Parts: sequence; structure tokens; C-alpha cells
Amino acid sequence: MLRTENVHFRKTNKNTVVKRVREVYLRSDIPCLSSQCPLEPKCHQRVRVESSLLNSEPQYYLVPDYSVSLRYVELLEQEELTNIIFTETILTRLQSEDKSRTYKSLRQVAKDPRRRSVVFSNEHCQETSVLRQPDESIEHRDWRALVQTASWYRRHLAGAVPIILLSEQYTQQDVLDLKDSTGITVMSLKEYLTTYWPTTSVLHELLMSLKEAILEEDLENQNQTSSGSKKGSGATGYQEYKPMSELEAGVKSERFFQGVLRVRANHRDQAFIRGGSNIGEIVIVGSDHRNRAVHGDLVVVELLNKTSWIAPSTHISYDPEEIHAAGDDEEEVSIQHRAREVKPTGRVIGVISRNWQPYVATLQEGAEKESGSFHLVLPLNPIIPKIRIRHHDPKVLVNQRIVVRIDSWPVNSQYPNGHYVRSIGPVHELDTEVSAILIEHGISVSQTTQGFSDGSLKEMPINTPNQPWTPDPAELGRRKDLRKHTIFSIDPPNCQDIDDAISIKEVGNGNVEFGVHIADVSFFVQENSLTDLEARARGTTVYLSDRRFDMLPKVLSEQVCSLRHNVDRYAMSVIWTLDAEANVINTWFGRSVIRSACEMEYEQAQGLLNGKDVVPGVDARLCKQLKPAVILLAKTMRKVRARRMAHGGLELESSEVKFKFKEEEGGISDILPKEPLEVHQIIEEAMVMANAYVAKAVYDGGFRDSAMLRHHPPPIESHFKLLLRAAESRGFAIDTSSNLALASSLRDCAAKSNGDIEFIRLLKTMATMAMSEASYISSGSFPVNQYTHYGLALDFYTHFTSPIRRYADLVVHRQLMACILGSPSTPTAPAASNLLKNGVKIAQIADHLNYKNRESKMAQKDSTELFQTLYILQKTQPSAADDENGTELEDVPFVETGIISEIRENGFFVFVPRFGIKGPVYLKEKSGDISVPLSVLKAGRVPATIGGSDHLVMVSGCEMDSDNMTQITLKVPAQALASHPPGLSSTIQFRLFDKVKVALRLKKSYAHRHSIYMTLIGHHQDSATATPVKAHSSRLFKTKHAVGQQLKQDEVKRIAQQDPALAPLSEGELIRGIQDGQQQQQQRQQTAKTSKKKGARKPPLNSEEAYHQTRPDESLYHLIESFDRFRIVESTQSS
Ligand SMILES: [Zn+2]
Repeated sequence: MLRTENVHFRKTNKNTVVKRVREVYLRSDIPCLSSQCPLEPKCHQRVRVESSLLNSEPQYYLVPDYSVSLRYVELLEQEELTNIIFTETILTRLQSEDKSRTYKSLRQVAKDPRRRSVVFSNEHCQETSVLRQPDESIEHRDWRALVQTASWYRRHLAGAVPIILLSEQYTQQDVLDLKDSTGITVMSLKEYLTTYWPTTSVLHELLMSLKEAILEEDLENQNQTSSGSKKGSGATGYQEYKPMSELEAGVKSERFFQGVLRVRANHRDQAFIRGGSNIGEIVIVGSDHRNRAVHGDLVVVELLNKTSWIAPSTHISYDPEEIHAAGDDEEEVSIQHRAREVKPTGRVIGVISRNWQPYVATLQEGAEKESGSFHLVLPLNPIIPKIRIRHHDPKVLVNQRIVVRIDSWPVNSQYPNGHYVRSIGPVHELDTEVSAILIEHGISVSQTTQGFSDGSLKEMPINTPNQPWTPDPAELGRRKDLRKHTIFSIDPPNCQDIDDAISIKEVGNGNVEFGVHIADVSFFVQENSLTDLEARARGTTVYLSDRRFDMLPKVLSEQVCSLRHNVDRYAMSVIWTLDAEANVINTWFGRSVIRSACEMEYEQAQGLLNGKDVVPGVDARLCKQLKPAVILLAKTMRKVRARRMAHGGLELESSEVKFKFKEEEGGISDILPKEPLEVHQIIEEAMVMANAYVAKAVYDGGFRDSAMLRHHPPPIESHFKLLLRAAESRGFAIDTSSNLALASSLRDCAAKSNGDIEFIRLLKTMATMAMSEASYISSGSFPVNQYTHYGLALDFYTHFTSPIRRYADLVVHRQLMACILGSPSTPTAPAASNLLKNGVKIAQIADHLNYKNRESKMAQKDSTELFQTLYILQKTQPSAADDENGTELEDVPFVETGIISEIRENGFFVFVPRFGIKGPVYLKEKSGDISVPLSVLKAGRVPATIGGSDHLVMVSGCEMDSDNMTQITLKVPAQALASHPPGLSSTIQFRLFDKVKVALRLKKSYAHRHSIYMTLIGHHQDSATATPVKAHSSRLFKTKHAVGQQLKQDEVKRIAQQDPALAPLSEGELIRGIQDGQQQQQQRQQTAKTSKKKGARKPPLNSEEAYHQTRPDESLYHLIESFDRFRIVESTQSS
């Protein structure tokens, strides 16, 4: 082994330069990492290699030099660019010059197996190591090192692959000057893109924009040096960051505190970090103290004087955008339960690492008219500061959502400097807003375009009308043949990706054979194949309200893997023998071939369960065959569920909604709450059972250190405060000491609540919000007692039942197969792969999947909110006719009934269960004035319709008294009442869980999303004299009994008697409700015509007309629900 010396000069934080001499041992076995390696065995097969490999059929390999790596890293990050060789030379230099962000980005590219890019240790390789010559600059030595590496690759691969050196500094001539450089091409980025990506405008635009940003940065640096104004923060109020060494020492001695900066979505002026167990949360108030740190950055904070410590606000923000953004906030809960606790405040004195992302933004209004080439853009996410970008033609950015990135934030600049990346479309257009959601949640371009590489598609089985996929006879011999068994699936209507099916039959002695059959995806997707790597990177199928983005190619997800009826399909089966009490006698796991008899919909299965002999859409003969199976399944699963519930399983609540779309002109015809049916529970229980048994089998079967499990840690006790206080306000006590205690006290509340189903629902929602998040773990990273799933009350749990749309399940399938094949009965089977047995690797995959899941859930939530606002927009839009008349338009009120779900100092939040919308109602104005609409004071004699204007007349000057966040009392002074007719109430009380009538409204925004807010109309019981809403509600009540609901008849009656307007609507009821609404609207239109001169409002054009002409075809869109507005705990159900 040769030894050489490597000399580096490193600038330290104190701005001194130190010389570092490192001994380097040169090796002859550094692998080329190319699948094209001509050696036999290939050089990466001779040593242990963890890296992915350069592609086997590349057009070329790219070697970027320092000028490209440092300043155009973002271009290298683009998914289009693959087969990049990152040299050790470049990475070492980035590190020594403290370019850790760039260094990490390049490492990230090399780590992503889809990019087929590698890090080559050229400085350690005998044949590529280059010594610095006397008087040679470091730049030139590094350049020679790259040329040496490029020519080595060329020789090593026998010229099979062209090597392109990317440089913004050197040219082809610079190569010719060096010897031993034949066959190497040097290209600038511009030349490269023009040659190989002539039509990919995204890349060209990005390059142009980066060049502009660099030009700008250089100019700024020049100015700074020439004017010598490097210190001073000028007018910004920002401070220079302290040197890294001082920050590190300070954090160590607990003089400073380190943490990830989070900006409070509901109070953007405040940010905080979690400073550790000794100090807790440290609040950072105002942008000066935030000192150029952006949400997500890892920062170091110094505490401020105790006199400036503050209690977090318990106000509802007056900016609806902030509330919109706060929906998912964990700190929102923490604000409430720690309200009025004084917290330390601090200021940012250094940033350890930046977490700048691509941001979706909009040009500030009017910016295009300003002279100069700098423009401010407003990020869509209001917690990100405005960004200064340079653009040569801002006019083209007007009315567009664009993607921007931050480059730097100099101390003398009010806003960060960034650059324009690309445009995604006109603001508020559905496709633009959906793209924005996807970009903000890091969902990859390949997934959103549904694209798979050609290589990946080559791995796919063939399935065409002429050549349908059929099982291979040899493979059939290796599988349990279940094609004669009665197997069926139960899913939402028009489900394309069916991952699970069920079989059940009596086998004598009161025993039952019960099978869960899951699509055998791991048979088609080999570990580390291209398809596998892409699926792993995607992590999950992403479901938005109106579309979905698959994890796997369609030929698998909708065809060959999907357990469609009347075709043979491979499955992974779990088959239990159960006794009469549903105790497990025996379990079998293994590969099978099945032939589903029927793709049933939930409603159809529920119909059979309710005793119907035939249900629409299912053949009568099939119904006869399936009915006993469905009934036996329900009987068995009820027992299994009851046992799990007795162990403390929780029935939690989420306010799921789904959207109904209009077929032709687009738009939403309605928002429907997800209807609970007993079959949902039954299928869920079957899947929970399969997941739990597989988890235990994998763990016991040889994966003690690397089983992919799913755990749900118990909640933090203090998070229950809100729930406890809410229950207390109604005289209930809740025991949160264990999941069992919690479950039984929630049941207790339900029993004693006089059928107030919405109150119970809110209590359950609060319990859900207090929960921790469920997550994937590798068994080796946790002690056994932390595997438990608190919500489901199980000791072992995993995800096995949805391999078509969750990558975790695919890993679990492979682990289960390894257990089965490795068992004594099949001793010849191959051992589990290195990956499956590697606890550290599985933990990494688990973390990645947790991240992808969270982002995908957030994208779902944003998409639901987007559709909710579109719906409200549609409902409140003044009619076109009024528009033509040029009248000053006011929005049409859209009145709904809701429940007070949270009380704050200046008002309360109202939850509208019908749409799953939560919004603020303010009693105290920003100015401090406290007012209520006249309609609230007219208790008992509220106007018959919302057409009256009492809700618009505000009585101001009230006094307010809020008590422990459970009630607000308003006192109206006599003088305020004097100007109104007598008989008005002078004291009004609002309690948590009171029902109120509100008008839903939309705050429209250009730069941000529209947001929903509400205005108060009155207490719900006040409106007992039939309002239009009430009118169709009582009609709905009559039909309620006819709909076979999971609720018991008497329970339904009780709820409906108490409050029919709150019962969730079924589809049929909705149509009738809409018809009623139409008639009323027509009547109102008549009235409006006659009273037009008095300025009466005209109702909107009827948005449901098309709904009647053509019933919306649900197959047009896959209706996706599975959205939780609140924290997701566990969702096992197929969607
Ligand atoms: Zn090689």
C-alpha cells in the first residue's frame, strides 16, 4: 500500500487559516461502482460495497467539477440527471470550506438509489491520486485530479461509456493541455443541457435563474468588500451570528440552547425551540430576535432577561390564514393545556444548519410595476418570510404560483435572497393548487407524473387485452391452491387497487376457517429492483380528494396484483382455524393462488348483513352464496373485536369527509361525512388481526433485531388536560391512566350523555388529538415493551395488508416469506437478504416511511381544505346576473349548524360536523370592541329565515367574561339595548359544546389560499321556528329510519329528536335536501326580483342543476376519503 500526504488549508471559525496534513494510504481496490465494469468478478463485487451502482446502459457518466458542484448543486439535484460521479476531491473541498449544505445535498443525491449516482474515492485510489506540484494552485491540482479520474474511468471501462466533465470554469482546451486525457469531453452546463436536454425547459429555466442569482451574489460580495461595510447590520436590526466554536461551547455549558426553530402557525410573530428538559420551550418573539432563521432551521438561542419572559397568547388570531395553517399543530394543543404558564424568551445567535426547501410563492401584488430587477415574493405558507428574487421579466410571473428557493440571508438584508425556479400555473386554478400542495410536501415529480423509468417498466409482467397475465404453471405448484374457496373483497365503490380479500366457512365442531388474502406484491417486485427502489422512495400511494398518485406502476396496482374478481391472482394468505368463541386454534401463513368471487362494496355487504337476500349490483346467485359468509364473518369479528376492546382498544374519532364531484363542468356538488357502517369495522378488525399475527410471526421467526413493526406509544398525560376539562364542564370524569380506563370512561360518558352524539364525538376527537403518533420502527431499535400499540391495545403490530399502496407492507411480506422459507420444512430456501436482516437499515427505511407518511397525510389534509374552500366559494358566490348589473356584490351567506369546540379569550372555534370544518368566531374585535349580532339577542323569536338582516346588525360595547376556557358570558349594557325594540336578552352565555348557527364565509386571498371563517347568527335552539335548513332537516329525520345504519334504532331516534339537523346525511337524503334547497332558492329568487330596488340579495345561480341532469359518475373520480383532520392514529381500512 502506498502512502502519500494530503495537504489542506482550512479556514477556522476565528478566520485563521490552519494547514492540515493528512496521511493518505493509497489502495488498489477502490471499486469503480459501475455495472459496466468489465472485470470478472466486477470490482465492486470484490469488496464490501453499500453504495448503489452507476447504470448499466448509460448514455454517459457525468463528473461535475468544483465550480458546478458548489454553485449549481440545485441543478444536480434535479431528478432528470442521473449517473453522476461525485469525486472525493470535490466533497473534501466542500467540507474544508464549510459548505455543509452543499455537501449534504450532493451526498443526498448519491444516496438516492434511483439517481444511479456514486461517490468515487479518487484520492485514495492508486491510479487516480494526484499530488500537488510546486507552485500549483489548489484549484488546478483539483482540476487535474478530476481529469485523472475521468480518464481512469474511460480506460477502466474500456471506452464503453463516454465521460463528460461538467465545468463552468475550465474548457475543452484545458483538457487538451494535459496529457493522458484523450476521449474526455468538457462541457459547460449550458452546452450540456443544449446537447442532451434541448426541450426540457424546466432545466434551462433553472440554469438561467441560478446564473442570475450567482451574478447577484458576486456583485454583492464586491460591494461589501469595496465599501468595507462587512460588519454593521444597517437598518435591519439583525445581528451577525456568533462563531461556531463559541456556539458549540455555549450549548455544551448550557449557556445557550440548541433546537429546531418552529414558527407558530397561529401566531406568526412567535417562534419557539424546544431547548431540552431543563428549560423546555423557549419563545422567540419578533423577526429581530429570530435573526434571519427560517422555520425548520437548527438554531442556537440565547435567553433574554427574565423581565421579558411571556405567557403564550390564548387569543384566536385575527388572521384567518394563520388559523388555516394551524390546523395540524401540535403546539396548538400545548398552548391550551399550558395556557398562561410564563415561558422563557430568547434570540437566535447562530444557525447550525439550514432547512431551506423549495417554496411555492406568488409575486407580491404590484411588484411587476416597480423598476429594478429584484422583486419580493410571498410564500404560500405564511410562516415562511417574503423572499427577494431576481427576474428579468416579472410581468410573466403575475398571477402565477411559482417555485423559489432561498440562497442566502445577509445580515444587512431585510429579506432572504432567493431565486426563481419555475412556474407551476395560474393562482387558484385547481391543478395549480394541487401541484403546489405536492411540491410543498416533497412528493416527487416522478410520482406526481405517475412516471416509472423504462428500466422499471421492463421489470413488469405483461398484461394486455391480447396477452392477459396468467399464473405460471410451475409457480402454481409451489402455492396453496385456494381457487375453489369462496373468496370476496369488500371495498369502497370503484376500488381499483384491491389489496385484500376474505374467505370464511364453517368446518365442523363449531370451528371456523377464516382467511385473509393479500395481494402478493413481493412476488412481482424484487428487492432492490428499479421498481422496488422507486416504490421505496415514494413510500406510499398519495391520496388527495380528487386524485391519487400511485406507489407502484398501474399494471401491478390496478391489474396483476389487484385482487379482481373472476381472475386467478397470487396472494399471501393468513388462514386461521377458530373455535366457536373465535379463539385461534391454528394459524397458517403462506403463498397462495385465489380467484375472488365478488368485488363487493361496503354498502352491498352491509345490505346482506342487514338480512337482505339481494342487493343492487350483485348477482342474485352470488348474493345467496355470499350472504352466509358475510354474516358468519360479522359474527366472528364481533367476538374478536369485543375481546380486543376488553383489553383497552380505543374507538377513536376523526371527522372524515369525502367530496362529491360534478361530472361535466367540474366543481364539487357536495361534501359528505364518511358514513360509518358496521362492515367498515368488520373489515378493519380482520385486517388488524392479520397485521397483529404477522407482526408476531415475523418477530419470532428470526427477525428479533430487524422486524418492521408499527408501534403507538402511550400519550403524554399532560396532553389530556383539555379533554378532562371539557368532560368536567359537563359533569363527567375521565380516567386516562390506561387505554382500558380511557376506553371505558369514554363509553361511560356516551351512555350518560342523553344521546348527545356530537358531544361524544368531540370528546373522542379531543382524545385522539392528545394521542402520540403511530410510527414504523425496527424491532432492534426498541425494547420489547415499547412495541405495543396503545390505540389498538396490541403487543405486536405491523402493516401487512396493503402492499399495493404502502412500502412498509412490502418489507413485511418479504420478511414473512423469509420466515416461511427459512423454516425446517423448507430447508433449501434462500436466506433472508442482508437488507431484511439489517436492523440499522430497516430503522432507516422506517424513518423514511414515517416521514413520507406524514407528508402524504398533510398533503391530504391540505387537499381537503382546498376543496372545502372551493365548495364554500361556490356556495357563497353572488350570481352572474348580479355581476352583469355591476352591483356592488356581497357574498351570499351560507348558514350551517355547528358546535363550539374550543373557547378562547376573544371568541371560540365552531366545528361544523356536516363538512368537518372548524373555524373561528370572534366576539372581541381586533379594536377591542366586543359585539354580538342582534339575532343572538332575540332569543326565542329569531327571524324565520336568514333573509332577515338581524344577524348583520351588531350590538357593540358588550362586556365579556370567559371562565377557564369552558364558557363565555356576554353582558349587553342597557344603553346598547336602548336603540332596539324591547324584549332582548341582556346576558348571553356560550358554553363548550353549545350548538350555534353560523354563516360560513371565505376570506379571499391572492398570495395565499382562501380561508374559511364564520360569523355568528345565533344559538341553534333559538332558531326552532323553521328556517330553511331546519325544514329539510326534519324531512331527513323521517327518512333516517329507512337507512340501515349501524346506530341502533332507538339511539337514532334519540339523537334525531334532540337535534335532527346534526344527524349525518346519507347520499339519497342529500339529493332530496338539495332539491328542497333549490325550491327555496327559486322562491327566494322570486322575492329578490320584486324587492331588488331595496337592495335585497339574490341567491346564487344553482350550482346543483347539473347534478340532477346527470348523476355524477363516481367512476370518473376515485372518491377518496381516508382523511383525518386531526391526528392520525391508525387507519387499517382499505380506502
Ligand atoms: Zn470496475
